[in-house]
Amino acid sequence: MHHFDYKAGRLHCEDVDLGKIADAVGTPLYVYSTATLRRHASVIAAAFADIDCLIAYSVKANGNLAVLATLAAEGCGADVVSGGEMLRALKAGIPARRIVFSGVGKTREEMTLGLEQGIHQFNVESGAELETLSEVASSMGVKAPIAIRVNPDVAAGGHPNISTGKQGDKFGVPWAEAEPLYARAGELTGIEVCGVDVHIGSQIGDLEPMRRAFAKTVELTRRLRASGHNVSRIDFGGGLGIPYEASDAPASPADYAAMVRDVIGDLPVQVILEPGRVIAGNAGVMMTEVLYQKPAPDRTFLIVDAGMNDLMRPALYAAHHDVLPLNAPEKTDRNDTYDIVGPICESTDKFATRRDLPPVKSGDRLAFLSAGAYGAVLSSQYNARPLIPEVLVDGENYAIVRRRPSFDEMTQLEAMPDWLS
Ligand SMILES: *Cc1c(COP(=O)(O)O)cnc(C)c1O
Repeated sequence: MHHFDYKAGRLHCEDVDLGKIADAVGTPLYVYSTATLRRHASVIAAAFADIDCLIAYSVKANGNLAVLATLAAEGCGADVVSGGEMLRALKAGIPARRIVFSGVGKTREEMTLGLEQGIHQFNVESGAELETLSEVASSMGVKAPIAIRVNPDVAAGGHPNISTGKQGDKFGVPWAEAEPLYARAGELTGIEVCGVDVHIGSQIGDLEPMRRAFAKTVELTRRLRASGHNVSRIDFGGGLGIPYEASDAPASPADYAAMVRDVIGDLPVQVILEPGRVIAGNAGVMMTEVLYQKPAPDRTFLIVDAGMNDLMRPALYAAHHDVLPLNAPEKTDRNDTYDIVGPICESTDKFATRRDLPPVKSGDRLAFLSAGAYGAVLSSQYNARPLIPEVLVDGENYAIVRRRPSFDEMTQLEAMPDWLS
């Protein structure tokens, strides 16, 4: 469900004509819909309304401050994977007691920041991290609230590069080592055991792998409680998939919630969720302008002004994005077939292969749908291209929530050494 539709032949985000934003801000750029962000957050909250649940939005999906503030106002907490993301969440108004800190490589500085702020929970991913966190907390005279992220050895996820819960993945603690590590955690003076954590991957449309992983996690929680650990929270991570194309039919938040309730049964726990993509993915588009058509013997290339540095998902995960022209096609238009590519000097700078579109010419604008998650956050300045602007729409209003940097801003962190100046 999203709020990008044609009105009077022009693609709109809510009540704003996307062509007008492109005229004012310039392409390429991202546009996000407040109504879609709010709707996704509220649908998940409603699905879990009858249980004690913290919805910790995964900041890595889209960490723009205005997006975070929109979700903070909906009551979301945050799942962060770096000190920088924690500072973003705090700056956007998400209280520390609603922040959980995940990730395999937390530094002492990041641990200190989380402890100073008083975050809800650290999701610990190894024995070495547990020892370090205990040392850091002890030196500050506090206890770190923790869950241990376990690896349930269940494969899931829309692409091998986004599966995280299988033996051999770098994430979580191997299943057989979980209970000994909880025993160790119970001995450490700087650690307060609070929960168990699992996150098996991303873009998961089928609930069965999740159900298997969650059921194992609930079993483990019962065993830990029986052996005296105070495990009052289960963090089930994120990972719910979204429709990227019409044929995708991922499980709904309601189905997901029913499955979670079924798996936890009568176990009295706080449920923590870390949804990212399912909140932000379909709430954003990336707009680009067609620069050139380039015929080749076996295909026609559309060269657009956005590159893989602006939207990396196709190059990184062979991801599909639906593409719509900003001007609705005429009923009489027949589709042509194009390879849509960017200007970057890499062969992987390709958004779509043999894609059917109504006839397109230079100067036409296209919207890549479902680009709200893992879009802008993964972008870079490769080829000395400026980061592209982000715009947030709310009803009939819009605002630039990250502007395009100038050349001076792009180079201001660089300095000439003495011997060259
Ligand atoms: C990436 C990530 C998420 C969010 O995943 P989505 O598929 O975007 O919902 C949640 N938790 C952790 C630990 C992650 O690494």
